[in-house]
Amino acid sequence: MNASPPPALACSVRNCAKPLTRAEKTWYCESGHTFDIARSGYLNLIQPQDRRSLNAGDGRETVAARRALLDSGFGTALRAALLETIDSLALAPALQAVDLGCGEGYFLAELCAQTGFQGCGIDLSAHAVESAARRFPQHLWIAANADRRLPLLDSAWDLVLSIDGRRPRDEIARVLRPDGLLLVAIPAANDLIELRGAVLAEVLLTDQVAKAEAALAPHFQLRARRTVQQTRELDRVGLAQLAAATYRCARRREMQALASLEQLTVTTAHEVLVFGKSVPGLQD
Ligand SMILES: [Zn+2]
Repeated sequence: MNASPPPALACSVRNCAKPLTRAEKTWYCESGHTFDIARSGYLNLIQPQDRRSLNAGDGRETVAARRALLDSGFGTALRAALLETIDSLALAPALQAVDLGCGEGYFLAELCAQTGFQGCGIDLSAHAVESAARRFPQHLWIAANADRRLPLLDSAWDLVLSIDGRRPRDEIARVLRPDGLLLVAIPAANDLIELRGAVLAEVLLTDQVAKAEAALAPHFQLRARRTVQQTRELDRVGLAQLAAATYRCARRREMQALASLEQLTVTTAHEVLVFGKSVPGLQD
């Protein structure tokens, strides 16, 4: 543990939301609610009512497939684009960054390693945060349902990341400082275009940027945007990992089409978007 301020977490017991404090292997609030740190190192803030949809979030195979893809270099272009974007924002080095839908933690850990940010990753999948906690123990990893109330204190976070994840607008607005930023990565129109053409009989995606902007208004305004693209040759194993990691090709016909491919050039493409909070009265 370093001397940075502790992460601004809130109790996830319904209607509590008091600040959480850490004591050894437990986090607790002043109302006496306690949360254990798992042996693998992640903090479990999932409430019993969120457990009903078990297995909530990504399963073990999906997490393993995504990790294998990223380890093979699949995310390097997006990682570079995220870092360039962060560099261009000239942020303070010690800020608190939270990644919603952090998965196995690759992007948050990479960004924190390059910037010195204090990282906190949240994912509904205990498999994902367990994998993240084992690999990147220097950061805080939390199993929680980010679709409900985020287990984070009000106006306490400098940067919220959503990389191919969900974007609960009102909750993000609540936890961000007034000058905080929301960094979003979403699939660009030609993301996985070859895979979709060969297996899924789809072509271009519709414009996700306009949708994201509309969904985040009026709390957020788009401040910057860049597009990043990477093309890789995937063999059978890589294609199977890609399908598993992205929930594609799950239908029988699609699985057969995928299995018939020896290899495929695959484009991954993202829009990287920076949103700031709208200032009331300053809109056009
Ligand atoms: Zn509590």
